[in-house]
Amino acid sequence: MFWHRIAIDLGTAHSLVFTQDKGIVLSEPSAVAIQRSTGEAIAFGERARTMIGRSPDFIHVVRPLRDGVIADFEAARSMIRHFIRVASEGHRLARKAVVVCVPFGATAVEMDALVREAESAGADRVDAVREPFAAALGAGMTIHEPRGHLVIDIGGGTTEVTSLSLNDVVHCESVRTAGNAMDQAVQSFFRNRYNFAIGENTAEQIKIEHGRVYPAEDTMFEVKGLSQRTGKPQRLMVHTKEIQEALDPVARSITDAVRRSVERLAPDLAADVFTDGAALVGGGALLPGWPERLFEAMGLRARVVDEPLLCVMRGLIEILREPARYADLVENSRVRKHLE
Ligand code: ADP
Ligand code: MG
Repeated sequence: MFWHRIAIDLGTAHSLVFTQDKGIVLSEPSAVAIQRSTGEAIAFGERARTMIGRSPDFIHVVRPLRDGVIADFEAARSMIRHFIRVASEGHRLARKAVVVCVPFGATAVEMDALVREAESAGADRVDAVREPFAAALGAGMTIHEPRGHLVIDIGGGTTEVTSLSLNDVVHCESVRTAGNAMDQAVQSFFRNRYNFAIGENTAEQIKIEHGRVYPAEDTMFEVKGLSQRTGKPQRLMVHTKEIQEALDPVARSITDAVRRSVERLAPDLAADVFTDGAALVGGGALLPGWPERLFEAMGLRARVVDEPLLCVMRGLIEILREPARYADLVENSRVRKHLE
């Protein structure tokens, strides 16, 4: 019997599910809508996300991994169960091997419980990998060597700056300032400067289209929102430079995390990192200007990897394809008893 192989990237903002035969089968916001009275999960992903701010009191929408730890354990369990269900379509009878990444900050108990949940959802073999390992592999780093590597993962809820060497994490600096904080910064900028209200999704869109973290040519664009003075819909022309200023405090806090991380490195590891440069991954890495900003702030060269939103998944897929080669990176491996 063949193994049906599944990889799951559980993100703070966004999750991806891959199967060996079909490729990416799910790419959705990490959100679960829960019925308060029964505790039952009634919607996942995009559908659950659109319920945020629109749901009646008896429904409660959670982002289970919000701050880079497993914030809502029950919701995280139902999410993983849902992912395995989607990934198992057409393969009900096959043996299923799952590789899943967990936040660096997850405790051993949390990790083990997620692994058990995946098993009870039908996985016959579950390998849990801490996220920075997958990110570094996805960035093409050869982390088994005795050489320092630095990965800067700017996600939705958290930014994680991780230094690795000899298949191990030397240090991980995690801050709760990343994509979501940028969206909030854009929202409060419009509220404070123009008395103008925009929704969370509009703020994210503005960030994606016009945000940057290093000065560039200034242009103007139009924003639709609600005037807080009149309560009526209104259009507003703003400068891209203003968005850059709004994002600046968040960008500074991320830059500071990178600096702290580099300062903690032993001299030889620091020398490796400054020689080879760092890898920028995660959705936030797509904001123009990170390489310039980091170089100016600390002389660190950093490159944005190809398709930074897929970087962790690329690493997981490598592990999925060659489990024996990457056995050292798998922290919690469990195979159901009857298979052993
Ligand atoms: P996580 O792994 O924590 O779920 P992701 O790596 O999937 O996070 O990144 C999600 C974040 O990336 C969101 O905040 C999203 O707004 C942001 N993002 C996605 N595309 C872009 C872009 N082109 N420019 C800036 N930010 C982006
Ligand atoms: Mg991620």
